[in-house]
Amino acid sequence: MKLAVVTGNPHKVKEVAAYFAGILEVEHVPFESPECRHEDVGVIAEEKARYAWEALRRPLIVDDTGFYVTALNGFPGPYAAYVQDTIGNEGILKLVDGIEDRSAYFETAIAFVRGGVTRIFRGRIEGVLVQPRGSEGFGYDPIFEVGGKTLAEIPLADKSQISHRARALRAFGEWLEADSMADDRVRPDDNS
Ligand code: IMP
Repeated sequence: MKLAVVTGNPHKVKEVAAYFAGILEVEHVPFESPECRHEDVGVIAEEKARYAWEALRRPLIVDDTGFYVTALNGFPGPYAAYVQDTIGNEGILKLVDGIEDRSAYFETAIAFVRGGVTRIFRGRIEGVLVQPRGSEGFGYDPIFEVGGKTLAEIPLADKSQISHRARALRAFGEWLEADSMADDRVRPDDNS
């Protein structure tokens, strides 16, 4: 199966391709599904994936990611893209200026559609907000520290194995493997 990664964001594609390197063939499909408003990134990813399926009719994934700052009651959450494009990392840091609790997390929902059936896989990573460091990655990576390094200080090959996105992809990959094994049992190879 060749997996379409449906997104306008090339950074996400690089991370998916790095995660599945040697395991699954992926292809960037820069199709833009309209994005609904919802507090759950899983619902947003699911809607976008269904829309893309109607247009493309091939196995595909859509990634929707939220960024949740504890001191801001979870803001910007699913509005992470809008907030990144408006006030950016500097704006987020200003909002938490002088606040002791620096904790935040990312949540990624991966929606996979095949044969018109959609499944959602999630991954989270917890960290703390810091002054920007590093030049890898994208978005909030420079201000999000995990285990002493910001995600922007971690090379792609490593980020793509430990991140929120990696955790969601791992859940997806494990399900896919189990599903294909179940399929083999239901339709055993006649020659075996
Ligand atoms: P969306 O999933 O395209 O809605 O992305 C939400 C926003 O969160 C993006 O515009 C990025 O700014 C940010 N974002 C998504 N994934 C990551 C990540 O892995 N690291 C840092 N920022 C991210």
